[in-house]
Order: sequence, then structure tokens, then C-alpha cells
Amino acid sequence: MTKIRVLDPDTVNQIAAGEVVERPASVAKELLENAIDAGATSILVDVTSDMAAVTKIRVTDDGEGMTPEEAVLAFSPHATSKIRDIADLSAIHTLGFRGEALASIAAVAEVTMITRPRGAGALAGTRVVVRGGEVVEKSEVGAPEGTTIVVERLFYNTPARRKFLKSRNTELAHIYAVVENLALAHREIAFRVVHNGKERMATQRSGEVLATIAGLYGADLARALVPVEGRLPFIRISGYVSRPSESRGNPSQVFVSINGRSISSRRIAAAVREGYGTLLPKDRYPVAFIDLTIETDLVDVNVHPTKREVRLSREREITGAIAAAVEEALAGHDLLGDGAAEPVQQPLVPSEPARNPAPAAAEPEAAYAVGHRGLARSDRQLRRTETEGQENLLPPMEPIGQVAATYIVAEGTDGTLYLVDQHAAHERVLYDQVAEQRDKAAGSQELIMPVVLSLPPKESAALRDAVPLLADEGFLVEEFGRDTFAVRAVPVALGAVEDPGRVRETIDEVLAGEARTAPDRREAVTCIVACRGAVKAGALLTPDQQKRLLMQLARTKTPWTCPHGRPTVVAFDKRKLDGLFRRG
Ligand code: ADP
Ligand code: MG
Repeated sequence: MTKIRVLDPDTVNQIAAGEVVERPASVAKELLENAIDAGATSILVDVTSDMAAVTKIRVTDDGEGMTPEEAVLAFSPHATSKIRDIADLSAIHTLGFRGEALASIAAVAEVTMITRPRGAGALAGTRVVVRGGEVVEKSEVGAPEGTTIVVERLFYNTPARRKFLKSRNTELAHIYAVVENLALAHREIAFRVVHNGKERMATQRSGEVLATIAGLYGADLARALVPVEGRLPFIRISGYVSRPSESRGNPSQVFVSINGRSISSRRIAAAVREGYGTLLPKDRYPVAFIDLTIETDLVDVNVHPTKREVRLSREREITGAIAAAVEEALAGHDLLGDGAAEPVQQPLVPSEPARNPAPAAAEPEAAYAVGHRGLARSDRQLRRTETEGQENLLPPMEPIGQVAATYIVAEGTDGTLYLVDQHAAHERVLYDQVAEQRDKAAGSQELIMPVVLSLPPKESAALRDAVPLLADEGFLVEEFGRDTFAVRAVPVALGAVEDPGRVRETIDEVLAGEARTAPDRREAVTCIVACRGAVKAGALLTPDQQKRLLMQLARTKTPWTCPHGRPTVVAFDKRKLDGLFRRG
């Protein structure tokens, strides 16, 4: 009587088939999954390589082990202890079930297995050696409970496949990625990776995802994360996402698990990214660790031989919920810099004055050239974005002055030094307002004098196409004659009533710029309008204007970055300043 049985051909035919052994990392993955399925609490991955390639992978677990019969049967094709027939698949809780990993690995390598079942008492362990699919040795050995599998000479009999292997370091990186994914999904297991005798990573059996993250990537990354929570009747979302300051050039560090299974899903990664909205530049991705608990009948794991991909029912609702949960998590958090500052627990009340108001703040407005054209213009720009808001997501800060007429210097009540990019900050304020007006289909203002544009045929065709898009944004554009257009109304935020030249520039930019190819044209147009209407870098601001800008910024939903994802505020807390001067 053994736990392992060979699946009948009907069942085999209904299981997604395909090659599972492509490279050393696939071997590591299959062996690790088997160890996890065997109930291991601690798993060691020991990798050996020479200069050119990975030469040996050894995985040791303290799981349930196998009897002598099972140890041999495990190498037969379609031999598994995990399902009996296809019906079992609908409620599968194990990582494996196809019963072909060990057979496939043993067909293209030399495999040694040493195993002894749990609670076997005085019974000895078993050693099985399989080469090119043939059992070449079976003997009794002394062994601890659990299983050790050693895979050597991978692809020794399939030189074509060996040729496709990448450099040693690339293959090692793939192995590490496999361990990272599994360790993140299985915090109840301690993982240790050793390469050529040196420990590469180690996690504790803490059950705590943050502890696992720190074990794999270091405490600094763990500190730069914000918790995410979400729930719908059929799904629970939990995990952590990075502050926008910790971003990556690709989605490879968006880790997703579904019901404890680590999976890869471009759609879910896109949903996580979507939750950041404009907090990240278009081409950047966050670091994220997302655990999804979904009713098992909504998840189909039988679509891909390595089970990395799954099919989800109600995928739209699920991705929508993920994006919303991420957005909410970020909106409620202090996203400054590296997370060194304490998270803001509650929205703060509008700024109380700093304890030691700096001299510049007290300086009379008159110190600034009265009637300076730039000042008047900044004033008009700021007046347009004045709102009655309660929200205040920035810590209280009092402006001290400007640097290079570009950055506002401010002091927080706790002695933190803030530098605010005035253009980026005002862009954020405008962007939020334009986006809101756009959603309310309001915010258009008629021009006293329509702005007339005469365009070359190619551009006028582009403008004709863009009329509905521009209308969404509050531009009323009418064609009246060949290649001639009248702009009759513009978004309020643009404030272009005073400046017809700006209307032309903005529309030019919409037509010519990246807005035409950007995947989300609407958002791109909103960005352009915000950028055009915002206070410029290099514009002198009075203390009052600086203060108003900071208050406006604090009332936005995401004050930490501009719509292009660049930071609006950087902070140097007292500790950091003391450190710079090597105090205490
Ligand atoms: P699958 O995991 O799909 O069942 P495998 O070829 O990976 O197929 O493994 C075949 C069988 O061998 C498993 O079903 C399991 O019963 C047994 N087995 C493999 N590895 C281990 C292990 N580390 N500890 C205990 N049993 C194992
Ligand atoms: Mg398996």
C-alpha cells in the first residue's frame, strides 16, 4: 500500500501537458514544490557551480519522506500522491499534481534520492539512483526523516538543450528568483540557499511576510513598504507595496500569490501599477507583495505545465479591487522619501506655525518688487487653484524662503527640513483639479476672443481627430473652413483667458507630443494642461504665495509626486541633518 499511484491515461490527457524542465531553476522549482507539498518546515537548497555552469542542485527537506516502494514509484511518469482523478483538481491544495516532474528530471539528469518516512522508527532510509530515466541503484541507508534529492549532470544526454542555457550567473539568478517566490508564498517554512558553500539567503519560519521580505531583500526595502488590505465577497487582498521612491524598470518585483501559490500574471501586475496612478512615471513599476485569497472555484490552475499562470473567473472585478486597494493604501500614507519619517497616522490639521519662525517668513511682502510681472502672473496661477479643502496629507510646514527661485524651503514642527519643487507641486495641484473637473464634465471657460488656428493639412487632420478628446478636457474647438479652427473655450485650470498664446502652445503640444501615442491619451492631455498652467521653475514667489502653494499641495490626494511621478517634496528629518553634520 503506497500513497503514490499512477494516474490513468484519461486523467493524464486532461492535465495541461508540456515540458517542465528547461533549466536548473526549473529543477529547483519542482524539488522545492515537492518539499513544500511534503509538509517540510525547513528546506535547504545547496547549489554548486563551476566557472561555466550550475553543476549540482541538492534540496533537503524535513517533510513526510517516502517508503522504499514510494521512492521508486515517485520516478514513474504520472505517478502522484496528490490527485486520483481530474475531479480532485478543482480543490487542489498542493503545488504539484501532474506526477511527472521527477520522471522528467530523471530522464535528463542523474538523480540521487535519499528518503525516510516520518515516524518510521527503526526502519532504515532508502537511497535510489536514477540515470537517464533508469533506476540504477536502490539500497537501504541510514537517513534522517525527510528527503534529500541531488540532481547532477543536467541535460547530459540532451546536448541541444544544454546549449540553450545562459551564463552561470543568469541561471543562478533564476534559481534565486524561484526560491524568493516560494519563500514569499510560504512564510511558515524556513528557506536557506547556499551556493558553493556560501549562504545566499535565509528566511525564518515567522509566518510574517515583512520578516520574509527582510530575509530575502534586506530590512531597508521592508521599511519602505506600505500595507495593503482589501476585501470583496469572494476575494481577500493583503500585502505590501513600495513607496513610489522604490520603483523598478520592470514588473519583475511585483510578487503575487493566489491561495498560497506564487503565480505570474501580467494583468495583476498591471492592476497593482494602476493603483499608483500618477505616483509613478509611466515606465516604472513598484515593488509589491500581494497575497490573494480567492474562492477556489474561481481559479483554474490547470492551464500551464509549470502552473505559473492561472486563469481567473471575474478577473475584471478582481483586478479592479486590487488597483483600488493599492490606491487606497498609498493615499492614506506618508510617501516621503525612503520611509525614514514616521508614517502619518491621521490627516494633519492645516499647518500651525513652526516653533521658530525663520526671519524670511516674517519678511513683509513689500520686500519683493511690487508689480513684478512674474509675481502677478504667479498670483493669477495660484488664485485659480485656490480651494476650500479639509484634507491635509502633508505634515505641517512653514515656508522659510526659496532657493534658486525654484524650490521652496520649509520647516516642519518637528525640525524636519523640506524642499518643495514649486513647479512640480503646482502641477500636482492643477492635475488633480483638472482631472476632477474632467470627471464632472465641468471646468470649461469660454474665451472672450476665440483663438484661431490655421494648420497644415496633416496637423489639421490630427486636430480633427483630437476634438472629442480635447472636449473632454474642456477645450471647445470648432472647424470653420479649410484647415482652420476656432478654440472657443479652454479648461478653467489653464487660465488662458489672459494668454491666447498659451492656448495655441497647449494644443500644439497635445497634437505633437507624446500625448498622441501615449496609451492613456486623456491622462496625457490632463498632464499637459497641468504643466502648462503651473507656476514655473525660476518664478519668484512671495512668502504668502509660497504658503498658499504648500496649502494647496497639502489638499491634494497624493501630494508626494507630480503627475509625471517625480517627487514634489523631499524631507531631511532632524536625525538626517544631525547625521550630515556628524552630531551625536
Ligand atoms: P507531483 O508533485 O506532481 O505529484 P512529482 O513527480 O513531482 O509529481 O512527484 C511524484 C511523487 O513523489 C509526489 O506525488 C510525492 O508523493 C512524492 N515526492 C516527491 N518529492 C517528495 C518529497 N520531497 N517528499 C515526499 N514525497 C515526495
Ligand atoms: Mg512535484
